[in-house]
Amino acid sequence: MNIIVLIKQVVAATSAKINPETGTLIREGVENILNPFDEYAIEEGLRLREKLGGKVTVVTMGPPQAVEAIRKAIGMGVDEGILVSDAKFAGSDTWATAYTLSQVIKKIGDYRIIITGKQAVDGDTAQVGPEVASCLDIPMVAWVRKIEEVSDAKIRVERLMEDGYDVLESSLPVLLSVVKEINEPRLESLKGKMRAKKYEPLKWTSADFSDFDFSQVGLKGSPTRVKKTFTPQRQYKAAMLSGNAAQMAEELCGKIKELNIIK
Ligand SMILES: Cc1cc2nc3c(=O)[nH]c(=O)nc-3n(C[C@H](O)[C@H](O)[C@H](O)COP(=O)(O)OP(=O)(O)OC[C@H]3O[C@@H](n4cnc5c(N)ncnc54)[C@H](O)[C@@H]3O)c2cc1C
Repeated sequence: MNIIVLIKQVVAATSAKINPETGTLIREGVENILNPFDEYAIEEGLRLREKLGGKVTVVTMGPPQAVEAIRKAIGMGVDEGILVSDAKFAGSDTWATAYTLSQVIKKIGDYRIIITGKQAVDGDTAQVGPEVASCLDIPMVAWVRKIEEVSDAKIRVERLMEDGYDVLESSLPVLLSVVKEINEPRLESLKGKMRAKKYEPLKWTSADFSDFDFSQVGLKGSPTRVKKTFTPQRQYKAAMLSGNAAQMAEELCGKIKELNIIK
């Protein structure tokens, strides 16, 4: 059973900075990591391959340095990686990203299950998985915490809910986004690391697609726009209250009313 795992390289939280002029994330000269949630997606892909055979291919759309995210996945044991990178895709929003990824998946062709992480820790929208499924016109289950059973034609999964979980059945092919409760990702093995060191993924650019609607990608093709981003200025002010409990409670209520946050 061939499985595709979508992975994203993200800026490590400790080095995340916004360009104050353009309002976009500064991605150059900062530490990049594999999106932590995608490690669970890779692990689940590997477990399915170990049970059912086939191969696991990771796909990422990003700048050339995103090859490092693929190498991490290779170290963990995936079979192949594809990096989709082109200046024409730069500035893509989640929909444009999902459209491009869906074209990549169509080109790969032979797949039964697509797995994504719950969300990327930088963009944080959790939109790409559902949008890819929509572009491919296949079913999608979000927040999968367990795969109970898989056959050639269908899959039964548990979907995490706020107050418990749902058991859902879907036909294949299907796209699943997984939560961290699903497994414990393995570390890269020594053999995997050795392979990863020299590994060169397939690199696809816009020229590799014959039937691609370029009006749907890049900044121009993206239906959403970031109009403004800013870092809120934090102000810390402390006021000491005095008196007995009732007096302090009354004073506190007065101060809260002054702030005009409770009507
Ligand atoms: C309005 C807008 C404008 C943007 N402009 C830019 C920009 O100019 N430059 C820029 O670099 N980014 C830009 N982004 C961010 C970029 O579109 C998103 O990072 C990307 O589409 C993924 O969205 P996300 O990070 O919210 O991922 P989520 O939807 O939270 O990710 C869910 C899962 O989808 C998969 N996934 C997500 N992204 C990818 C990917 N690229 N390749 C493979 N799998 C993936 C992963 O499995 C991930 O766990 C913009 C986003 C928005 C909303």
